[in-house]
Amino acid sequence: MTTQFDVIVLGAGPAGYVAAIRAAQLGLRTACVDNFKTAAGKASLGGTCLNVGCIPSKALLESSENFERVRHKFGAHGITVKEASVDVAAMQARKQKIVDQFTGGIAGLFRKNKVASYHGTGAFKSAAGGVYDIDVTAAATSESLQAKHVIVATGSIPRALPFAPFDNDVILDNAGALALTEVPKRLGVIGAGVIGLEMGSVWRRLGAEVTILEALPGFLLAADEAVAKEALKAFTRDAGFVIRTGVTVTAVRKGNGDVAVEYAIEGKTQQAEFDKLIVAVGRSPNTAGLNAGAVGLKLAANGAVEADDNCRTNLPNVYAVGDVVRGPMLAHKAMEEGVAAAERIVGQAAHVNLDHVPWVIYTSPEIAWVGRTEQSLREAGIAYRSGQFPFMANGRARALGETVGFVKMLADAKTDRILGVHIVGPFASELISEAVVAMEFDASSEDIARIVHAHPSLAEVMHEAALAVDKRTLHI
Ligand code: NAD
Repeated sequence: MTTQFDVIVLGAGPAGYVAAIRAAQLGLRTACVDNFKTAAGKASLGGTCLNVGCIPSKALLESSENFERVRHKFGAHGITVKEASVDVAAMQARKQKIVDQFTGGIAGLFRKNKVASYHGTGAFKSAAGGVYDIDVTAAATSESLQAKHVIVATGSIPRALPFAPFDNDVILDNAGALALTEVPKRLGVIGAGVIGLEMGSVWRRLGAEVTILEALPGFLLAADEAVAKEALKAFTRDAGFVIRTGVTVTAVRKGNGDVAVEYAIEGKTQQAEFDKLIVAVGRSPNTAGLNAGAVGLKLAANGAVEADDNCRTNLPNVYAVGDVVRGPMLAHKAMEEGVAAAERIVGQAAHVNLDHVPWVIYTSPEIAWVGRTEQSLREAGIAYRSGQFPFMANGRARALGETVGFVKMLADAKTDRILGVHIVGPFASELISEAVVAMEFDASSEDIARIVHAHPSLAEVMHEAALAVDKRTLHI
């Protein structure tokens, strides 16, 4: 028997579950198909983000940061704690409880919005008369669904190095890095990207010696150069990370409960031994199971679904959203694309501005930015003015004891329109929202400078950075 829908969403990660909810809100009969299973073999909605990504990593980052505070920061407040210790099992149980609440919450949202939820791998079977046939295959079952509209939201998978396949025992992907049951003494990380830095932070704070090996010649080259410099200083000087850039990893050999990594740096071959190795060298679009060829869905060379700015694919009424298409692999970008695809199906004029997608790295200090970096403006020959203000000169940051970092604002030299905002420091993840809103409304640095910011608050650093663009800071 074939079950009919108006729209079938493939994938229940942030792109897919949000697309399904929005489609159902708009009155479309909606199915959402997802094949994620937990390590225990249980179907679980929410994709990588909720199960083995954003949410569990934030839980462990918070727990490990608390441990770090107790050990290294409470003393300054006059609080002494003797022999703080970590119960990794309890920390992991707390993380899992948070994950289960959210993944279960999506099942509840699906019921509330009348989204039909299917567990299994959804694949194109055929297309005829403007209708797509989708097979849903699970271990013991197989079902047939049909709809005029399909939203592909199958996400991404960790990219493995050919000589270091994941075993999630010693060589870990994002899921393995989140699931360690004890703190490794020596942790190696290949890739100084978002996952490497966040997961490296968790285990370093809990006591691991962390070495990060990065292929690119510099650190965090995607970030603004001043932010990358400040962050590198904080991570290596204050936090004790060992970060090597310009590294070519040539071999990874598993030993008896440990792993040896051979790499070349400045023409010299070196070897390092670790108890665990996280490989976080990026992710690849997850399209292998889609059977795209059956309907002629066009894929790019890297496996991504080809899609235009509005997430339309080469097939009529087939959209692709989130990590499976071009653009940053970020949950918030994915969610907005999911909403927009559902709205376009019913003929609404949706809008997602990829130029103003914020980036956040949840390290300590946190890093967040939106828009252009100073080096990209320089390279493009765009005349700009720059204003920077340190957290050190902010009352709230001093009271928090979190004074590392700054906010930097870049504005067009002629029009004063804000072109980019870069933050390294406390709660950068929250502060960046003001900049995103400002840029979406085409604000100038003067607009931010004239807005009343609460005192004392970290947001005043944004205010002062705007004043700094015009060289008129008040507090330095
Ligand atoms: P990434 O692209 O952020 O970083 C990968 C890093 O690995 C890069 O610096 C790259 O130069 C380096 N690299 C690549 N090949 C290498 C090699 N052979 N040897 C050494 N270094 C190598 O990717 P990621 O950290 O794996 O994260 C995957 C995706 O998940 C990213 O798109 C990221 O945006 C997303 N993510 C986002 C967040 C967040 O928003 N806070 C958190 C985690 C993951």
